[in-house]
Amino acid sequence: MRRLAVLTAVLSLAVVAGPPAPAAAGTPLARQTLPAGDGWAAEGPGTTGGSAAPPANVHTVSTRAGLVAALAAPGPRIIQVRGTVDAHTGPGGTPLSCADYAQDGYTLAGYLTAYDPAVWGRDREPAGPLEDARAASAARQTAQIKLKVPGDTTIVGLGGSATLRGVNLHVDRADNVIIRNLVFEDAADCFPQWDPTDGEEGNWNSLYDNISVTGSTHVWVDHNTFTDGDNPDSAQPRHFGRPYQVHDGQLDVTNGADFVTASWNVFSGHDKTMLIGSTNNPAADAGRLNVTVHHNHFDDVLQRLPRVRFGKVHVYNNYYEIPDASTFVYALGVGVESKIFSEANFYRLGRAVDPAALLHDWGGTALTSRDDVLRVGGKVRPFDAVAAYNAAHDPDLGSDAGWTPVLHTGVDPAESVRLSVSQRAGAGRLG
Ligand code: CA
Ligand code: CA
Repeated sequence: MRRLAVLTAVLSLAVVAGPPAPAAAGTPLARQTLPAGDGWAAEGPGTTGGSAAPPANVHTVSTRAGLVAALAAPGPRIIQVRGTVDAHTGPGGTPLSCADYAQDGYTLAGYLTAYDPAVWGRDREPAGPLEDARAASAARQTAQIKLKVPGDTTIVGLGGSATLRGVNLHVDRADNVIIRNLVFEDAADCFPQWDPTDGEEGNWNSLYDNISVTGSTHVWVDHNTFTDGDNPDSAQPRHFGRPYQVHDGQLDVTNGADFVTASWNVFSGHDKTMLIGSTNNPAADAGRLNVTVHHNHFDDVLQRLPRVRFGKVHVYNNYYEIPDASTFVYALGVGVESKIFSEANFYRLGRAVDPAALLHDWGGTALTSRDDVLRVGGKVRPFDAVAAYNAAHDPDLGSDAGWTPVLHTGVDPAESVRLSVSQRAGAGRLG
């Protein structure tokens, strides 16, 4: 695929403007490529997305139908989003609601009656006609909002507020994808599934991430803003005593994906923010899931910042703003065979937030954590996340991830990160 793309690029250069260049002044946003060495996505051939697209493969879209058509068009392709693309839009632009996807008599009220733990118990997952109806309804929603992104693609927002609302972008078994300068808003699931066997009290689980990267390589997710908009987790009701969770991840990297750089994004007001690796089974993931997470603003998000299994994950120069203990669980999830190398992050915590809670042991053994700073009550001080964790928990985590990142363009002093990330991360900050 890549060889074909390069060949196409060479052929198109004869008739089109200059070659794709690294991100630099003068290169239009849509033609920019990942700078050399900028994280794991720079490995090997690097990440050029659709930057070599000939003019016929450059699409500007402002509707779901336009986006779907552009994703299916020949590559390499550039897709520029203008305004707001709402996934919940039918043929001819008709707005759709959850009721339009419901199948076979599904209603939430009926589902709650059928699977109330007082009736159904807590020992087995829901089954039977109403669960079947829920699954059929979810399948219809999936067909509407989950949009596959092929390889050799760049998707960029035009201007400061281009938005994908209700969309789950799915980068699946693709190589070479760039996603930049977009607001990702509220990929809510109309049909959350109750699982009484998930955790001690059961959980409501939902299907859709804003961006899902599965089985793909060379993916650069940069300068985007992730938000649940006017539908935050904090506004959801509780059913069966548990939060009715209508969202999944904001950016999840799973199923053997590899070579991903997530840079200069804002992740805000969300629960399950960034999952790297979704299973403890090593079959697809061992030796993969290598991701760089740098200069992101984690703004009042609850957990998975990120949560990691298997991967060599470089987490540097991120700004963690954690004002409230009641809307925080943990930042770095140290999962099975994870190899997190965390450095020079800025943790700004509200007074009630416990610094020992920044790490969570999900079955991992060690991580490297160095050169961070912690700000509490206006005072900034050096901070050792592993030492803080180990002082409060047993068993201890080791302090050596066993590798040293090479693919990065320079690590800034942690003290500078709050300002640089506040001023420059997120959509609307480029060009
Ligand atoms: Ca997910
Ligand atoms: Ca200890």
